[in-house]
Amino acid sequence: SAITNHMPTAELQALDAAHHMHPFTTNDELAAKGARIITRAKGVYLTDSEGNQILDGMAGLWCVNIGYGRSEMAEVAARQMMELPYYNTFFMTTHVPAIALAQEVAKLAPEGLNHVFFAGSGSEANDTNIRMVRTYWAEKGKSAKTNIISRKNAYHGSSMGSGSLGGMSYMHAQGGMPIPGIHHINQPDWWAEGGDMTPEDFGLARARELEEKIAELGEDTVAAFIAEPIQGAGGVVVPPETYWPEIQRICDKYDILLIADEVICGFGRTGNWFGSQTVGIRPHIMTIAKGLSSGYQPIGGSIVCDEVAEVIGATEFNHGYTYSGHPVAAAVALENLRILQEENILDHVRDVGAPALKQGLNELADHPLVGGVSIMGMMASLPLTPHKASRAKFASDAGTVGYMCRERCFANNLVMRHVGDRMIISPPLIIDQPDIDVFMARARKALDETY
Ligand code: PLP
Repeated sequence: SAITNHMPTAELQALDAAHHMHPFTTNDELAAKGARIITRAKGVYLTDSEGNQILDGMAGLWCVNIGYGRSEMAEVAARQMMELPYYNTFFMTTHVPAIALAQEVAKLAPEGLNHVFFAGSGSEANDTNIRMVRTYWAEKGKSAKTNIISRKNAYHGSSMGSGSLGGMSYMHAQGGMPIPGIHHINQPDWWAEGGDMTPEDFGLARARELEEKIAELGEDTVAAFIAEPIQGAGGVVVPPETYWPEIQRICDKYDILLIADEVICGFGRTGNWFGSQTVGIRPHIMTIAKGLSSGYQPIGGSIVCDEVAEVIGATEFNHGYTYSGHPVAAAVALENLRILQEENILDHVRDVGAPALKQGLNELADHPLVGGVSIMGMMASLPLTPHKASRAKFASDAGTVGYMCRERCFANNLVMRHVGDRMIISPPLIIDQPDIDVFMARARKALDETY
């Protein structure tokens, strides 16, 4: 029996609940409410099985940077599937889409980052990074350098390696994470954890925890520090300005590889090609995925500096994925990069999208539930609070009010995610003023209904 978009919603929802295991979802939730069935999408709007037009304030999962429904992407995919649907890049073979995409990514990346190791996702790419930095130091004769330092409340993926790099305690509680040799310091979240400190002092203090952790583990045992330039899934945590320069100083001083996880920040989200440029750091490796293909095909990778690539390639790196550099995904990603460049979408972010989003959110911050605005480019969050001045937390279980607000947004045909009691915003980069106005009107209504 064919399952189609034309079946009654309730029937599709029942089948979904019966057979489809969803990430980060409980059976009870699925059975009680039924998942919303998204049938198509165009620009910044999703359509559901009831015909509702939902404004996607999250660009899917922070990935549909060029917006939905670009026919060029489908045409490129179809052409590539006819010509060469699959071939691998193991054992001395390659193909034009992988070559062209690697060259283009190297061109866009900061100076010195000229090599790309492809993966199927951000999680896979971060697993690659764990093995790559440890192998690098072993090849350099420093095999004791195996520890990797990350941060609490970071998100680096869901596989054993990447989930261990991540600092989500509720993920670590299941399935035996973190794997050995991964250590977490505190995050630079002034809003939630800064207390009475100034943001500047707090940023420095949190950065210096890296130096303390290096001392504790032993300077000669630390391979790398990994972080998102701006934490995304942790709640869009924009660090105080003092934070990143101090982290860079510490990595330089102790000869520690710096890995910037650009899975969300990359490809225009912060107004530059990479978040590392926005916060002014010089990583040795950058993790990419999501905006690399605007989510039209699953693809990720690691952009690697010359020195690390040279050492890793000196002997065989026994690592790779069946879909490393998948030709259809690579061709689609290349088309996405062409669209981003030819349509000057980064200029649109800097000149139109980000200022309009900032202004709209600042106006929304007069709402009694909204504690402030955290924003960089076109990623933002609104912490909800019962008391703005003290940045107080709700007495209810953490996340209850955020969850309610997300539900009210969804009921009002707006996707705004919540992380605990923080509302998260990350629309397609092409969103313009009229749809930002729609966003704000729906968000205000949802906040009123939550209050
Ligand atoms: N790194 C960051 C910063 C992310 O936000 C994510 C996903 O949200 C990942 C890695 C994992 O990427 P994927 O879900 O493609 O495995």
